[in-house]
Amino acid sequence: MTKQVLLLPGDGIGPEIVAQAVKVLDVLNTKYNLDINMTEGLVGGAAYDVHGHPLPDETLKAALAADAILLGAVGGYQWESLDISVRPEKGLLGIRSNLKLFANLRPAMLYPQLANASTLKPEVVSGLDILIVRELTGGIYFGQPRGIRTLENGERQGYNTYVYSETEIKRIGHVAFQAAMKRNKKVCSVDKANVLEVTELWREVMTDLAKEYPEVQLSHMYVDNAAMQLVRNPKQFDVIVTGNMFGDILSDEASMLTGSIGMLPSASLDAHNKGMYEPSHGSAPDIAGQNLANPLATILSAAMMLRYSLGREDLAVKVEQAVSAVLDQGLRTGDIFSEGMTRVSTSQMGDAVVAQL
Ligand code: NAD
Repeated sequence: MTKQVLLLPGDGIGPEIVAQAVKVLDVLNTKYNLDINMTEGLVGGAAYDVHGHPLPDETLKAALAADAILLGAVGGYQWESLDISVRPEKGLLGIRSNLKLFANLRPAMLYPQLANASTLKPEVVSGLDILIVRELTGGIYFGQPRGIRTLENGERQGYNTYVYSETEIKRIGHVAFQAAMKRNKKVCSVDKANVLEVTELWREVMTDLAKEYPEVQLSHMYVDNAAMQLVRNPKQFDVIVTGNMFGDILSDEASMLTGSIGMLPSASLDAHNKGMYEPSHGSAPDIAGQNLANPLATILSAAMMLRYSLGREDLAVKVEQAVSAVLDQGLRTGDIFSEGMTRVSTSQMGDAVVAQL
């Protein structure tokens, strides 16, 4: 049956990079029997400008109906002074929570061709292949109560609430253990159990869950140590599982180990593998509209979509191999450019991947 894919290009470089992934998906549709129908919607600042809201009803409806969503990025300088309730990022958070996309998968992989792009020594990062599994719909980003209140002495106080239920911890734990079963069978659960009760419970639940996966080796690490270990010796990790806020920070740190945020895809999944796929980077307003952005993270996000939501592992592998072949040819956008390589634009990079396919 034809699967429905909703494209949400969003803001900044979003439209340019999503266009490259669409070229790739078009080829798969015509040459490799990928039976998908793509439609486009508005999200983020682009949606605010038209509808006065970053997640209009029609976009949410289309997102709920789709089998998978491919998103570019949201945000930009011109929307930064808006009230927090209608900022572009609210569009993303709204899709994540309405679709119950509780599991965020962010691989940090260093392509051997880019070993010199990292700011760390090649021997520390070469061959790096870790997966960060971040809980996405709970924790301190969503906990109630929250707000800014005025105390009796007239001073204002900001407050947020850090909560996780056993059910929330278990379901993200399962995702991490199952991912580890397909990889190197190691899970490191990151918490701050020495200070926060909520993560004391997190540690307890993860330890219990590990009994269901006897082949997987579970370890625990405090988040401050994890931040340090990721830079000191990142290859010690296979799968890292953690809560929303720690995952937000650690996954950005991990992505920079590889040298370019322009290379890293991500997936946000619900309990039935329906998902939203997007590059790990933002809307890069500084280079938007100039045909400079690296589209590979978006193309690799489309590969993750093929793998997790569209049941086409074969095509996911084809796309990943095409990306690797293009790097072998020495083609580089500005963010991953180095001496002796061929500098290409966003659309040329997309064309090169298409040519490989
Ligand atoms: P950013 O990721 O957009 O940019 C950081 C730096 O990386 C910039 O110098 C940018 O030019 C570069 N960069 C990012 N993606 C690139 C690519 N594909 N190719 C080449 N270079 C690339 O982060 P930021 O500057 O902190 O945020 C800019 C805007 O993006 C903000 O409005 C922010 O809120 C938003 N943002 C959105 C998302 C999302 O949509 N998921 C995530 C993070 C930030």
